[in-house]
Amino acid sequence: MIDETNHFDVVIAGAGPAGSSLAIRLAKQGLRVALVEQKRFPRHKLCGEFISPECLSHFQELGVLDELTATGIELKRTVFYTRKSTWAAVPSEWFGQSANALGLSRSKMDHALLERARDLNVEIFEEHNAVGLIRDGTNICGIRVKTSDANTNEIRADLTIDATGRSRVLVRHLDTAPRTKADFVAFKTHFTGANVPEGDCEIYAYRGGYGGCSGVENGRHNLCFIVSAILAKQYSGDAQSIMRNVLFTNERAKNALTNATVAEPWLAVAIENYGRFNLAPAEGLIAVGDAAAFIDPFTGSGMLLALECSRIAAAAIETNKGRSFNELADTYSREHSRSFDKRLRVSSLLRNMAFVPFLAESTIKLLSLSTALTRRIARSTRPSTRNQ
Ligand SMILES: Cc1cc2nc3c(=O)[nH]c(=O)nc-3n(C[C@H](O)[C@H](O)[C@H](O)COP(=O)(O)OP(=O)(O)OC[C@H]3O[C@@H](n4cnc5c(N)ncnc54)[C@H](O)[C@@H]3O)c2cc1C
Repeated sequence: MIDETNHFDVVIAGAGPAGSSLAIRLAKQGLRVALVEQKRFPRHKLCGEFISPECLSHFQELGVLDELTATGIELKRTVFYTRKSTWAAVPSEWFGQSANALGLSRSKMDHALLERARDLNVEIFEEHNAVGLIRDGTNICGIRVKTSDANTNEIRADLTIDATGRSRVLVRHLDTAPRTKADFVAFKTHFTGANVPEGDCEIYAYRGGYGGCSGVENGRHNLCFIVSAILAKQYSGDAQSIMRNVLFTNERAKNALTNATVAEPWLAVAIENYGRFNLAPAEGLIAVGDAAAFIDPFTGSGMLLALECSRIAAAAIETNKGRSFNELADTYSREHSRSFDKRLRVSSLLRNMAFVPFLAESTIKLLSLSTALTRRIARSTRPSTRNQ
């Protein structure tokens, strides 16, 4: 129930890693924060569930490290397979930290971050759908929300944050550009009994997309794969048929999953666009995480970007307390560009290669011959050591 007299310093829509981690950081600054999430947690979420090693230092700062590492499993390397099983491996330790990557469901990770925010007195509104912006002239001063019983309400705040992921629900209210058609569709589920070596995250190349499989908690494996929208349509969007007829053209994927059992209902999402969007589209509104920039999933670094982006936004908010919104927007945009522009450019190049079967296969074959080159390319999708 929302107290109509409530006015927050900050209202954040979306409790993924970007929204919850930002809520935690702002609550630690002493700000009064509202966090609005359309789902009730824990909930499953479509994702590769590969948590890059650099995320662990964020978890430490956010106060959830012990809980997450006690539940998740260590992923020591990512192995890229061509259709005929030539492979190239990227050890997790190349990402410049002493820790390995973590395999953990989004259900667990997102829930832990949300509960940590609650512990720090962030006001959490689950099952509240952010449906619109409250405007005072050109200034944004909060959001309109709809509850599961169809009540509409307002949450007012000095600063409004869109952390609704790729759907960019709030920003789209200001964006007059028509939505582009989704070129790709992603599917995910958990399996029991997958034949994947302990500690490996496997990436499979095939015509029209790629997929990844790695361990998560409770002895399960997460499978997440992407196909072109044309291929998805050809199989009427049926995940099981696409897995057998498309993903299984990769020998290693077939070997890993043929005798495994699906343990969760399949999830599917359309993927429209990648890259950087408008970070501060109106006075009083900024975007964080995927709503600000979306990096290709095969880099396994989207969650890292979300956590880093929120750290940058929190620092910009703190530095600019008492100053104008434009000063905050300038600091945030400058730091965002400095941290992510190069990575987004490299991953855009790699993505274009990943969807051309000949290039994807040739690259993995080339990388299988050169550890130094593999290391260089893997590192270029991550923060430079200067930024760590
Ligand atoms: C196929 C695929 C595989 C991926 N695999 C990986 C991987 O292995 N490793 C990795 O690091 N990254 C991966 N990513 C990227 C990663 O999932 C994202 O970068 C990350 O989730 C971004 O976090 P976020 O908080 O910005 O958005 P999200 O995690 O998308 O969170 C947004 C939240 O907002 C909520 N929301 C949406 N609309 C509303 C609304 N109207 N009102 C209220 N709440 C709302 C949603 O329910 C959700 O909880 C993958 C992405 C895809 C598409």
